[in-house]
Amino acid sequence: MNNELNAREALKLAKRIVIKIGTSSLVHAGGKMNLRRIEKLARVLSELMNQGREIILVSSGAIGVGAEVLKLRERPSTVSGRQAAAAVGQVHLMQVYSRLFAEYGYNVAQILLTRDTVDDPEALQNAVNTFTGLIEMHVLPVVNENDTIAVDEIKFGDNDNLSSIVARITGADLLVILTDIDGYYKDNPSERPDAEMYHNITDLSEAIEAAAGGAGSRLGTGGMLTKVHASRLAAASGIHAVIANGSDPEILYRILDGEDVGTMFVGRAAQ
Ligand code: GLU
Repeated sequence: MNNELNAREALKLAKRIVIKIGTSSLVHAGGKMNLRRIEKLARVLSELMNQGREIILVSSGAIGVGAEVLKLRERPSTVSGRQAAAAVGQVHLMQVYSRLFAEYGYNVAQILLTRDTVDDPEALQNAVNTFTGLIEMHVLPVVNENDTIAVDEIKFGDNDNLSSIVARITGADLLVILTDIDGYYKDNPSERPDAEMYHNITDLSEAIEAAAGGAGSRLGTGGMLTKVHASRLAAASGIHAVIANGSDPEILYRILDGEDVGTMFVGRAAQ
């Protein structure tokens, strides 16, 4: 118990932080961008950078935003359709981020990754150097999968997994996965309203994923299972991970104040 409390306290000192936000947090159910939330996210992340923290944003939403820009009635059903939507949507997303962060004096940079980038030692080193260079210049790296060229063999598959990999290759202290539910529940809260939420998880064995199958958000690509898996792997590499509700991005302040919000996977070295 003490260790768990200490682990929350340790988050106050987190310096390099990877924050992942999913499509369901960025886009309204009807497909339009949730500008109110994105504006708040930009303000909170800018304030965290003002505090001297190093932030990397992993943002989904390219396909969802692209479908809206192209006035498609729904997400394209073909791979090439989704890739085209992502190509269009990524530009719009970056335009919005660029404009909003500029209000607070920060530049943004786009980093699009595929799995073969991280599998190839030379390409990986180049990517890591780019992250380091951007962070040194106080630029916010905004990361997504390179959807336009990511066919199955070179796919990360989902941005939860991608964010966990980004946290590991950049040596982050903390990974925060923002989603549309308060955390990881022991039962599916939509079927069992009395379901309890995990607060601090120190068991990093695969068994901890058991409750994730049907629980949580179904709007994102991954659902709860990919979030738990990504958090568990980050924690096993010594990086604290928190799954939290992104409906109010100010929750990031609370996480970094050491408050008991969301579900924390306690990084291994700290246990
Ligand atoms: N790369 C996808 C997009 O930007 C999202 C993948 C995910 O949410 O896991 O639309």
